[in-house]
Amino acid sequence: MSSCLFCKILEKNIPTDFVYEDEHVAAFLDIRPTKKGHVLVIPKKHSDTFLKTDPEILSHVVHGVQKVAHAAVMALGADGCNISVNNGEAAGQVIFHLHWHIIPRTADDGLVNWPHTSYQDGEAKEIAEKIRKFL
Ligand code: ZN
Repeated sequence: MSSCLFCKILEKNIPTDFVYEDEHVAAFLDIRPTKKGHVLVIPKKHSDTFLKTDPEILSHVVHGVQKVAHAAVMALGADGCNISVNNGEAAGQVIFHLHWHIIPRTADDGLVNWPHTSYQDGEAKEIAEKIRKFL
């Protein structure tokens, strides 16, 4: 048996409210939802983080994410949804099996997204150049 919580979920060793499953992807309700209908979408093949995952696997999962996000928005009567991946501990990743969060949102739900900041003069160009050097 795996030590990874989400692999255990895939092995059906933990009671889970699945909403979707295909050859590559599974989706289930988060047991500690940010909003009701908060769904997690995971690849069936274990991978720790987004940045370490084979792009071919990502493409399968993204198709699943789109399908499930559409269903969650319709089912919950939401106005939209947040779709996100926490990549690494510093970004809030707790379970190290890649997963997307789909959080149905309504215009008046009161959930606050990230705060904004701003760049000093020339700083944006400098940071964009730093990123381009790694591409
Ligand atoms: Zn796993």
